[in-house]
Amino acid sequence: MPDFAVLGGGLSGRLVAWRLAGAGHRVALYERGGPEGGEAAAWVAAAMLAPLAEAAVAELLITELGVASLETWPCILAELPEPVFFQRNGTLVVWHHADRTEAPLFERRVRANAPRELADAHFTTLQGAQLDAAEPALAGRFARGWLLDGEGQLDNRQALAALAAGLAQRGVQTHWNTSVDDANLPQARVTIDCRGLGAKPALPALRGIRGEVARVHAPGIGLTRPVRLLHPRYPLYIAPKQNDLYVIGATEIEGEDRSPVSVRSALELLSAAFAVHPAFGEARILELNSQCRPTLPDHRPALIWDAGRGDGKTLRVNGLYRHGFMIAPAVADEAVRMAEAMLAGKLADADAFEALRAESRWASMLHATAGQDTHSERAHA
Ligand SMILES: Cc1cc2nc3c(=O)[nH]c(=O)nc-3n(C[C@H](O)[C@H](O)[C@H](O)COP(=O)(O)OP(=O)(O)OC[C@H]3O[C@@H](n4cnc5c(N)ncnc54)[C@H](O)[C@@H]3O)c2cc1C
Repeated sequence: MPDFAVLGGGLSGRLVAWRLAGAGHRVALYERGGPEGGEAAAWVAAAMLAPLAEAAVAELLITELGVASLETWPCILAELPEPVFFQRNGTLVVWHHADRTEAPLFERRVRANAPRELADAHFTTLQGAQLDAAEPALAGRFARGWLLDGEGQLDNRQALAALAAGLAQRGVQTHWNTSVDDANLPQARVTIDCRGLGAKPALPALRGIRGEVARVHAPGIGLTRPVRLLHPRYPLYIAPKQNDLYVIGATEIEGEDRSPVSVRSALELLSAAFAVHPAFGEARILELNSQCRPTLPDHRPALIWDAGRGDGKTLRVNGLYRHGFMIAPAVADEAVRMAEAMLAGKLADADAFEALRAESRWASMLHATAGQDTHSERAHA
């Protein structure tokens, strides 16, 4: 019997399984889709690692998890057997003159939610020529902007592929194209549920927030970093990957609709990109795609020690919402710590859980439940 059965091989499942195998444990992973990761929210994500930019819509916990994870990603990538595009060239935030009232709102939200020293050190105002010099592809197009330096991004699909290769290298027993539900749980000493939205039967308060993106090929534009366009109705980002590939996103629509991208959303995304640089008019649309971000009511990630099944041997990792790539390394670290405590029999009761929680830098992510009712209570707290 393996030490750990990891359910769900999207972003968090792959990372946790890979980490546990690296620590010498016997790990089995069950994923309803294939090794490429096409069923995961992570497949569609832009994979920006932007804790300061995201502070405009996220609380301090998320910013801090993001800052810690940004330092950890290069170490993870260095250990994976395949290369993954990763850069820390900052985020550029711009707006059109007509939307200039959005700028102070954005700045106020970032400064309210992010640690002061982080915002002071990495929030640089660029005017005219400075902006043109920082991002020559946009020269003359915007009068002002902000450079949030040090922020990063990676290639989501390369990361999923490299993690799959890493799982094989570390001897993880992978069961691709294998759906697991609570009625057919695999045997293991500890179960780690990383099924994202697929964990909804066990976490009824979980919900999906649909995101739509376009992937385009646009040779010759040459953006050097993710660009965010402030707009009252269509806030947008353009994340340049390798080989002139751009991910343009993303809508945020309440609901678990996985149908194809709507005409309205496609028009909004592509028109906004065209407004950032008219050369996007000649870009070739490679893909319009949608996925749902797994979200808990408080919009925070959660590590839930599930005592409700009677054996106290299930850990649920969920609620990564729109920040999965940005925070996954720190979340996975904590998940590994909890999982190893469970395997060692150190998480036998509520007192032991409280002791583990008290030691955690991220205590507010850690929860214990006694069953489904408590999942709902915690999630609505
Ligand atoms: C449009 C969009 C843009 C995004 N952009 C960013 C971004 O720029 N930066 C960022 O940090 N984050 C971004 N995200 C968020 C990020 O993708 C998610 O937070 C992250 O993928 C969540 O990871 P997860 O492992 O919890 O879920 P997932 O990646 O969805 O993985 C869950 C896995 O579980 C599997 N599964 C489900 N049910 C079962 C079952 N019954 N049996 C077996 N397997 C099952 C699924 O097939 C899937 O592979 C974006 C998301 C979207 C949709």
